[in-house]
Amino acid sequence: MKTIDTPNIEQQVAAERTVETEPTRYPLAERTPRPSGRPRVVVVGAGFGGLSVVRKLAQADVDVLMLDRNNYHGFWPLLYQVATAGLEPESIAYPARAILRKYPNANFLMADVTDVDFERRLVLTSGGPLAYDYLVLAAGSANNYFGDEALAAQTFGMKDIDDAERLRNQVLRAFEQAVIERDPAKRAALLTFVIVGGGPTGVELAGAFAELIRHVLRKDYPMLDVSQARVLLVEASDRILASFPEPLQRKARKRLEKMGVEVKLRTAVSAVDKGVVSFKDGTSLDSGTVVWAAGVRAADLADALGVPLGRGARVKIRPTLNLPERPEVFVIGDMAYLEGYKNGQSYPMVAPVAIQQGKLAARNILALIEGRPLRTFRYFDRGQMATIGRRAAVMDSFGIHLSGFIAWLGWLFVHLIELIGFRNRLVVLTNWAYNYFTYDRAVRLITGKQE
Ligand SMILES: Cc1cc2nc3c(=O)[nH]c(=O)nc-3n(C[C@H](O)[C@H](O)[C@H](O)COP(=O)(O)OP(=O)(O)OC[C@H]3O[C@@H](n4cnc5c(N)ncnc54)[C@H](O)[C@@H]3O)c2cc1C
Repeated sequence: MKTIDTPNIEQQVAAERTVETEPTRYPLAERTPRPSGRPRVVVVGAGFGGLSVVRKLAQADVDVLMLDRNNYHGFWPLLYQVATAGLEPESIAYPARAILRKYPNANFLMADVTDVDFERRLVLTSGGPLAYDYLVLAAGSANNYFGDEALAAQTFGMKDIDDAERLRNQVLRAFEQAVIERDPAKRAALLTFVIVGGGPTGVELAGAFAELIRHVLRKDYPMLDVSQARVLLVEASDRILASFPEPLQRKARKRLEKMGVEVKLRTAVSAVDKGVVSFKDGTSLDSGTVVWAAGVRAADLADALGVPLGRGARVKIRPTLNLPERPEVFVIGDMAYLEGYKNGQSYPMVAPVAIQQGKLAARNILALIEGRPLRTFRYFDRGQMATIGRRAAVMDSFGIHLSGFIAWLGWLFVHLIELIGFRNRLVVLTNWAYNYFTYDRAVRLITGKQE
């Protein structure tokens, strides 16, 4: 059974809340009323980065408090399969409290973090302030609409489980509406699905949607001419999967086109309004479903901190992963901006960077506590991969370029072993096998009310 060194975390939080009502009283001892007397490490975000910190600190003489606005860890690389009715949301998420059960020095609180008071060393949350001695900010990323908030309202995002469920409902609902729509132009718009952004998320979504329509919905809607349905992948630059080697980009594009996806390169979206997508070249297209996968930025929390930000509003950090003026505050993963990747670029917003930075942040916190020098971040790059439908992928790893079925098997293996929880692995594997052999998708449910 788990023993908790801090006897009652809720009592501590209540004590800290009381402190908030008397803002002049913030002596250090009062701020951190911890019977264990150990330093408290607060970790914001139960994502890849945050979990890696907690794991690394499991045996350390510190109290760890993890905060997240959701009560689960989400495995985002499989999110597109939730959006395309291949997996149920529960199979790609795992309760944060269940993960932390294994770590006696760690606790979890569900709270939305709104800001940090660096002077007083307080994390400001929806549930009141929380004191820290060391802080790790790992709040991840958000969609980047480049200041065009109308885009946010008119398009579907792909950032969390709510987004994916909303998109699944939208696509299935569009088919239901198309069945009863008499106006051919409106029906065509309902059956036109536009994905903006040719990065891995856009490519994976486009392939999965094309297959859902061709193999599954075609049989579900015999009274509808499903051959009218279009999936367009729209990309402003002259290539998809820009971070992959050129031959793999070409193979991915060919494969998508073979699956019926219309890949539109050098096509920049200027506006989306009431079902009309306008392009910078002056043309437009009617579409009932536009997915925005064209940009990411740091989570909104980065804006609130009042610290220098880099590209994509990511927080600028030192190579030791902490803030220049606040050595006790570490920022990692998608939220952090650090140059040093290929050709001096910033490290990419991918799970392995977040995981490796989480490990180093934990190690450097212990170094600070013990008065040892801090280490700088060195990334061990295992490469990248993206899947294109149910039998193909592209993989670029240690200079080896693979595509097709072999790459797809590699993709399956990596994602399955990285997924947390035996039950999740079993459910995902069963769904994949079912999908592979029957060409069917198990989760074709429309849930929730239409927005
Ligand atoms: C659709 C999609 C597909 C992807 N595919 C891949 C892939 O195939 N391979 C790959 O390597 N990477 C992939 N990524 C990127 C990868 O998921 C991220 O790089 C990784 O999750 C970053 O880890 P993180 O810990 O920084 O953030 P996350 O894992 O996103 O965790 C951030 C956590 O912070 C919480 N949070 C945010 N704001 C607050 C707040 N204010 N208060 C409290 N909690 C907050 C969130 O709820 C979340 O749990 C994908 C991302 C997406 C969205």
